[in-house]
Amino acid sequence: MPAAMRHDVDSLRAALPALDWTTDPQRLALLSRDFAWFSPILKAELEGKAADIAVRPRDEAELKQLVGECARRAIPLTLRGAATGNYGQCTPVQGGVLVDMGGLDRIVWQRGGVVRAQAGIRLAELERRVREPGYELRCMPSTFRVATLGGLFAGGFGGVGSITYGPIASPGNVLGVGALSVEAGPQVLELRGAEALALHHTWGTTGIVLEVELALAPAQTWIELVVVFDGSFDAALDFGDALAAAPGLPKRNVAALAWPVPGFIAKWERAFPPGHDAVLAVVAEAAEPAVRELAARFGGRVTHRAESAEAQRRNQTILEMCWNHSTLHALKADAGRTYLQCSFTAGRHLEQVRAVHGLFGRGGSGERGGSDESGGQAEVLMHVEFIRSLDGALICTALPLVRYTGELRLQEIIDGYRALGVRVNNPHHKHVEDGRFGGTLPPGAASAKRRLDPLGLLNPGKLRVWPIPG
Ligand SMILES: Cc1cc2nc3c(=O)[nH]c(=O)nc-3n(C[C@H](O)[C@H](O)[C@H](O)COP(=O)(O)OP(=O)(O)OC[C@H]3O[C@@H](n4cnc5c(N)ncnc54)[C@H](O)[C@@H]3O)c2cc1C
Repeated sequence: MPAAMRHDVDSLRAALPALDWTTDPQRLALLSRDFAWFSPILKAELEGKAADIAVRPRDEAELKQLVGECARRAIPLTLRGAATGNYGQCTPVQGGVLVDMGGLDRIVWQRGGVVRAQAGIRLAELERRVREPGYELRCMPSTFRVATLGGLFAGGFGGVGSITYGPIASPGNVLGVGALSVEAGPQVLELRGAEALALHHTWGTTGIVLEVELALAPAQTWIELVVVFDGSFDAALDFGDALAAAPGLPKRNVAALAWPVPGFIAKWERAFPPGHDAVLAVVAEAAEPAVRELAARFGGRVTHRAESAEAQRRNQTILEMCWNHSTLHALKADAGRTYLQCSFTAGRHLEQVRAVHGLFGRGGSGERGGSDESGGQAEVLMHVEFIRSLDGALICTALPLVRYTGELRLQEIIDGYRALGVRVNNPHHKHVEDGRFGGTLPPGAASAKRRLDPLGLLNPGKLRVWPIPG
């Protein structure tokens, strides 16, 4: 259906006058956007796409009324958490209703190390609440301050904490979800374990997530450290890897940024001296002395230390320099860049990082930071995040910052990475199948879609192929 085609949202609004509607076109344009602008390709493709109307249900009863009325009128629904997704995930490409889930933000219950909360709760608030009885979230994105639980589950991957607990999809992290079907008489279904994970990272196309049940971690006092290395990304990488692997050193995040990436972070010159590569480490308080010893052994120097909870309160946490926050900092300094998302092979991860860094990361002259026509910076700048993979192996992922000179060159770089055995989840695609899933919707996700969205009204246009033939 063409984006310009309007749905019968006037009769929808008239049927549910008590709901909290938004109709102002400027506001609708704003609400319909996420961080897809990180990609010049997606930015162009999603230009002008917006909902016809937006609504913020106050509770589950209002959401059910809305869904039922939309199903009767065949009006598309696109779910919105905090719109921090990177791929235009909450941009309604075929118009219809944008559903702001922020009103469904209750903690349903917490029992020991398990919490169940409504999808619209912000992760920072959820973490604050579960900390009261001595727990914390196992993994959360660097956007935790605003991002929602439902948005993380339906659109995210993991992030902070994944160095210990793997991605959010690692079995045991998400225990179950409550989902709502899109039908004239919407049904609530409880999905457990693998069945629940079928809805993960499908961008709100396979079912409305009402509640998520999470396993928690014991709360720790975390210390944030910046360790810098004078001119050797190899040393930064080796230290990051050793710290990530050390079983006696609890950590919440370990990232390595090759210079000039740390230089993009405004007002942090004291912590990030020019020409120095940096490791951003968040480690348990008791581990700090041993981490400092380890850093010194690799030639690292600590330039910044803060208690993480305090740093978060002051809006000065290094967590907001990790993961895709490095892209945000870079784009503020240099709008000509974009990014990739990669993961490396366990056991070969450092060798592969060095190989791709050598190929694209050293500028025209072959020297580190060597000059090229873009003013002295290499074409691809390296940012590595250490994590445990789904099966528990220590690996690293990367969010390299690419100087964007066109789709053709971007594809050449992706091909160059892939030729070295690196997995690239291309973040410049607008369809669910083409990123992490490598081309096809997993069978579990397809059957969830049939069960929970039989009319195909959820975020239409985001699945490249629907219905799946045969
Ligand atoms: C600077 C920056 C840093 C980031 N860092 C990370 C990171 O460290 N790790 C990571 O995984 N991601 C990261 N992201 C991506 C994003 O922030 C996270 O995935 C975040 O969890 C998304 O939450 P949200 O509430 O903003 O979701 P939204 O962007 O609002 O939604 C994401 C998707 O989920 C769907 N959705 C939302 N709520 C529901 C629901 N209740 N039911 C069904 N579908 C729903 C939406 O339709 C959309 O398709 C980053 C993005 C930016 C811009």
